[in-house]
Amino acid sequence: RTFEELGLHADLLKGIYDMKFTKPSKIQERALPLLLRDPHQLNLPLDSPSNFIGQSQSGTGKTAAFVLTMLSRVDFSLQKPQALCLAPSRELARQIMTVVASMGKFTEVQTEYAIKDYLPRDAKHISAQVIVGTPGTMTDLVRRRVIDVSNVKVFVLDEADQMLDTDGLGDQTLRVKNMLPKRGVQIVLFSATFPEHVRTFADKFAPNANKIEL
Ligand code: AMP
Repeated sequence: RTFEELGLHADLLKGIYDMKFTKPSKIQERALPLLLRDPHQLNLPLDSPSNFIGQSQSGTGKTAAFVLTMLSRVDFSLQKPQALCLAPSRELARQIMTVVASMGKFTEVQTEYAIKDYLPRDAKHISAQVIVGTPGTMTDLVRRRVIDVSNVKVFVLDEADQMLDTDGLGDQTLRVKNMLPKRGVQIVLFSATFPEHVRTFADKFAPNANKIEL
């Protein structure tokens, strides 16, 4: 399979080839058809089958899979947050954003971090389309309406197992999800491991999801 066959936008294909990726990794090949199946802007219920749970170690190319999903669902003519991504650490949030910038290099995408001490406390609002951050800061920004979530179409949680290993992060992640629109949001979760408590959390976070194990 090629990236073209996955139905990605031409501007995203340019970004992919600019990164010197020649063909999809195994997880990308299996996950992207499911992740991209529902055309964006469909009025999906929150428990829609477009939700996704993926078991995958780092090094497999999972970041590109969910970054391409986020970028595929953004309407670049709309200056509003449309894709949110949570990571368990600032370092990981920064790494994810690097991938968003590279893959989106030939698009008009605007990005912003939601990580502690990154934005001034008095920031009025963030109009970036893709926002990557940590759960506490994202919760705070959404609650204070610095981030308007009414146009969010995709919500990604990376490294769910690590997230749940840190006190409070799982709860904050659910809090963010509960502030999102009740319809039309695709929920995507990746985790390297799925012990019982992660499995329970994942099923609650992303109901009726397509599941892929690598
Ligand atoms: P990840 O599993 O997301 O941490 O990605 C692991 C590494 O694989 C990163 O350095 C990516 O740049 C690289 N990578 C991801 N997808 C591909 C691909 N389709 N072809 C070549 N390298 C890739």
